Amino acid sequence: MLTLRAHHLLCIQGYKGHGYSKDFTKNMDKIVYALKNDPSIQVKIITKTDIICSCCPHNIGGKSCEHRYKVDYLDKKVLDLFQIEKNKVYYYKDLLNIIHKKITYESFKNICSICQWFHYGYCKKGLTQPSQF
Ligand code: SF4
Repeated sequence: MLTLRAHHLLCIQGYKGHGYSKDFTKNMDKIVYALKNDPSIQVKIITKTDIICSCCPHNIGGKSCEHRYKVDYLDKKVLDLFQIEKNKVYYYKDLLNIIHKKITYESFKNICSICQWFHYGYCKKGLTQPSQF
């Protein structure tokens, strides 16, 4: 089972091999590959540092994020939009179905436009082209 903070569900869809550092992308590559390879993986949704944060240079001592207020906001928006419960375990494929059913460009923009990666367009592409999930 993987633990993922809520907003990382969207980051994973837009991931194109770019990140905050070499360690970060190496770790992210592994996680994204594992999920794409086996959508039956169970995922526990959390709102604190997760396995993606574990290799991030913005992680503060494994316990928090330098951009805490922003990422807490993103997590809350994702939980609200998708009606996903914090601390609940889901099959990744069920989370993908929920995302596909509910995401629109407007809701994506509403959640993600404050993120530094938004303007690159990777996430828009990943979220609006279901074949990429
Ligand atoms: S530590 Fe912060 S910036 Fe880094 S992956 Fe986690 S939430 Fe994102």
